[in-house]
Amino acid sequence: MEQIEYIVLSTCPWCDSKDIHFRNIIHDFFLTNEEFSLFSCKGCGLVFTNPKPKNESLARYYHSDKYYSHTSQQKGIIPYIYRRVKDINLKTKFSQVTVGSNIEKVLDIGCGTGDFLDVCRQSGMVITGIEPDEFARDLAKKKLNIEILDPTQSKSLPDGCFDLITMWHVLEHVPDLKMQISELSRLCKKGGKVVIALPDYKSYDAEFYREKWAGWDVPRHLYHFNKEVITNMMFSGGFYAGEMHAMKWDSFYVSMLSEQYLKSRLGMIRAFLVGAISNFKAVRTGNYSSLVYTFIKQ
Ligand SMILES: [Zn+2]
Repeated sequence: MEQIEYIVLSTCPWCDSKDIHFRNIIHDFFLTNEEFSLFSCKGCGLVFTNPKPKNESLARYYHSDKYYSHTSQQKGIIPYIYRRVKDINLKTKFSQVTVGSNIEKVLDIGCGTGDFLDVCRQSGMVITGIEPDEFARDLAKKKLNIEILDPTQSKSLPDGCFDLITMWHVLEHVPDLKMQISELSRLCKKGGKVVIALPDYKSYDAEFYREKWAGWDVPRHLYHFNKEVITNMMFSGGFYAGEMHAMKWDSFYVSMLSEQYLKSRLGMIRAFLVGAISNFKAVRTGNYSSLVYTFIKQ
């Protein structure tokens, strides 16, 4: 078996503070069952996976038929629900991020197999996609009939050329957080929008499932955000916070996955209840299982 190499972080990957503290241990229930520690930073509030696999070793944690964002033909109830929810989500995402804006050029970072870009192009936008996974990138190329960039090619894109940049559950995966925020800042047009979807570990479903919460998804998720952390981060990149939307289906989906990790009887029924309670509580707290943040470039 190949040797996995890890990087031990002694400072925060965002603010460089040395005031970082062990928080808890989470298993990679999704794939390897390896355990990873989470640390939190007293300086900026970011929670991060530490140690983390070196960049060259990260791909191994994505090599699974279970990695639904890259597959579309699997049988079974969860993949089926995932696909149906994805279709509805795509339309919702599109209308939420485009309402009231005149968008000509869109960049989807971590575009997967290109579904969101496909919807954007159907409404007349000029589309660009970046995707690190070669398999997904090839599928997106075939589907959209355009070149899809790998992340190292991001630098070749001109400054301020996009009206809209989207990262749908992607920022928590990027190897270099600082570089990613600075690229967002460079690529977004003044007055343009950056839309970032992230899981929220302050949601009720996260509290309910604790270490078994599927939203931790270590070590694929290298960072674990909350509202204050992402807002401050984007502010330092030259963005101010715009509107925020809930991804209400995610509470059900994440709860279903978490129940699989618990291997509980009647898990799917409980997942439904937890998902519903999570959405209900979030009406007051704003802490939905997943949130879509909009940031405007100053
Ligand atoms: Zn920090």
